[in-house]
Amino acid sequence: MSSGEKKFFDFLIIGGGAAGLTAAQYGARAGLKTALVESAFSGGQALLINDLENYPGLFPAVSGADFAAGMEKQAKAFGAVFFTGTVASIDKKGNIFSVSTGTETFESKALLLATGASHRKLNIPGEAEFSGRGVSYCATCDGPFFRNKVVTVIGGGDAACDEARFLSGMASHVYLVHRRDELRAQAGVAKKVIDNPKITLLLNQKPLEINGSGKVETILLKNTVTGEQTVHKTDAVFIFVGMTPQTSLAEFIKKDNAGYIITDENMQTSVPGLFCAGDVRAKPFRQIVTAAADGAYAAFGAENYIRNLG
Ligand code: NAP
Repeated sequence: MSSGEKKFFDFLIIGGGAAGLTAAQYGARAGLKTALVESAFSGGQALLINDLENYPGLFPAVSGADFAAGMEKQAKAFGAVFFTGTVASIDKKGNIFSVSTGTETFESKALLLATGASHRKLNIPGEAEFSGRGVSYCATCDGPFFRNKVVTVIGGGDAACDEARFLSGMASHVYLVHRRDELRAQAGVAKKVIDNPKITLLLNQKPLEINGSGKVETILLKNTVTGEQTVHKTDAVFIFVGMTPQTSLAEFIKKDNAGYIITDENMQTSVPGLFCAGDVRAKPFRQIVTAAADGAYAAFGAENYIRNLG
């Protein structure tokens, strides 16, 4: 197919994370003419995981990159086709969705948004200034630059705990700064941090600003109970304070108060034929396994929807 020509599919998927890749495999395997459009590499947030240790059946742990490569290979083996491109707009005329990357146009009977979520920022002085010079949102990518150095992780959820533990394997010491007196992470994940002698918890501490001369040297913390401010020395600040759903393509779809897209149990949104799966969807538990499950349901929902179109 030459560029510029419209490409028509039964089921088109935007986003190549665990949700999109699973939907591609299930859609193709169900006999739907299925395509996936992804702006970069398949894998989404799984690409940032060094050891994926909680996906059922994959034990011992595999890297997120290997996991994603396997999912892509599996989807392609069942007939899904993959395109690289950044989707600029989506539209629906009658029962047909039209998706444009600016250079290519795709049409489909059913459409899946599996666009995931991006890292939330702290929005404090020094964060943007030192990004790439000690401030990071990816331990797998930037951790090795801080071998035998002191690093500070911000956040109290699963991501902060997992990444603090990963960083403790290379840094001389890891400080985990959390704004409350207890971690939000799942108990098993939190315990591994609490029991790790190379990680020190700094609880009830709110980051105020990141400082240094050319690179990160200190972070200013405020005790949320006493109000006391402390200058904490560190070579790097790794920020894991949650995610923001990537919904710029979906302004017209029903969302919850936090901006996540609302679906029914088959992942269909408020727009018939438009499905949504993975971290961009409103749900209580965001894991790779739940993203994959969403993707399977979305393909199932799309198949039923297309069949009922007649
Ligand atoms: P999360 O669960 O939303 O946790 C975000 C953490 O950052 C919370 O502890 C929050 O504090 C803190 N925070 C938020 N804004 C802050 C600010 N401005 N300043 C300081 N701290 C701030 O996010 P996540 O850890 O990125 O996880 C996202 C989803 O992925 C979750 O559903 C998680 O379960 C899942 N996940 C799972 C795994 C795993 O299973 N191993 C690994 C990674 C992610 P409060 O607690 O006070 O709100």
